Amino acid sequence: MENIVVRLEHVTKTFDEKREVIKDLSLEVREGEFLTLLGPSGCGKTTILRMISGLDTVTSGKVYIDSEDVTELESAKRQVNTIFQNLAVFPHMSVFDNVAFGLKMKKVPKDEIEKRVLKTLKLVDLEGFENRKPAQLSGGQLQRVAIARGIITNPKVLLLDESLCSLDLKLKRAMQIELKKIQKKSGITFIYVTHDQDEALTMSDRIIIIDKGVIQQDDTPEEIYQHPQTVFVADFIGESNIISGEIVKVKKDVVDVKIVDNLIFPVSDKGKSKVGDKVKLMIRPENVKISKNEIKDGIEGVIKDLVYDGAVTKLFVDTVGELNLKINVHGIVSYKEGDTVYVKLDINDIVLIRRNTDEGE
Ligand code: ATP
Repeated sequence: MENIVVRLEHVTKTFDEKREVIKDLSLEVREGEFLTLLGPSGCGKTTILRMISGLDTVTSGKVYIDSEDVTELESAKRQVNTIFQNLAVFPHMSVFDNVAFGLKMKKVPKDEIEKRVLKTLKLVDLEGFENRKPAQLSGGQLQRVAIARGIITNPKVLLLDESLCSLDLKLKRAMQIELKKIQKKSGITFIYVTHDQDEALTMSDRIIIIDKGVIQQDDTPEEIYQHPQTVFVADFIGESNIISGEIVKVKKDVVDVKIVDNLIFPVSDKGKSKVGDKVKLMIRPENVKISKNEIKDGIEGVIKDLVYDGAVTKLFVDTVGELNLKINVHGIVSYKEGDTVYVKLDINDIVLIRRNTDEGE
């Protein structure tokens, strides 16, 4: 069975005696995984990290690290390291001394420190940089120093609070791939916090999406993108078309969802839907088929706007039945504003969303 390194059980956190920012939250983190906590600013991600590291206490509930109840244990005694946004690298110390710092504090013998620092610098691809000062390093190299410092003491888990956020986009993309590689090579469990969905999708083995202190979905990146379970998730991850409808017929593994009187979509559904249920349908813009020629079961529409966005052209189409669809088409297209087009939503590309947390369902 997989070893659980961190477990939160029914954790709540209230600030100023009345503002509950974390609401009855339970989660498990498996040994060796790269888990990302993803959500908009202020949803409580950092607070969750701080409760795991012990920098914040929980208002109620329990925190376990490696099966030990650490709810009341002070931060310094938890086998957890944190990399903060500002990296907190000591500017006056060499790279070697920065990385060695945690081991010196633990009074590890000098020759062992040297061996472990050199091994860790090799792991983060910083061989030969031992004598440099932080001011003599690039942004990416500084990140590596912070990571080396975080993993050298072999913590049960390394917490990273938006540590890549200060990098420019290109370097950030490169470091995301690098960070995942380092995590796999070190075997240490990482919990990464971010509001950047691309970052979460690129790096994580698993993503937990949080909104207003509540878990919205806990799944692999693929499942989160392909099968969002709430409107919030569908909207927050990637681009989506969200359409309101009502179930009018239930068949085996398929339901018919009425959007307006003469617009009914068959949708795969292995759930417990019944006639009359109000639901949302989600379809990604890249999955909507579009043609200038009539297509079987196609819906007629008009192009209202086009935006060229490098790899894709974004088309905004209004159809009969008052659907306003975003459609992404690869490359340069011959469509123009005002063109009549036909669109098709394939049964396999439509996701039925029954949970709509925004409406308290
Ligand atoms: P961001 O991405 O902006 O860092 P976050 O998801 O990490 O956001 P938190 O920093 O966990 O969010 O904050 C969650 C909520 O708790 C916010 O409304 C914040 O204002 C509040 N909060 C955090 N720390 C404190 C504190 N020490 N005292 C009072 N309120 C706090």
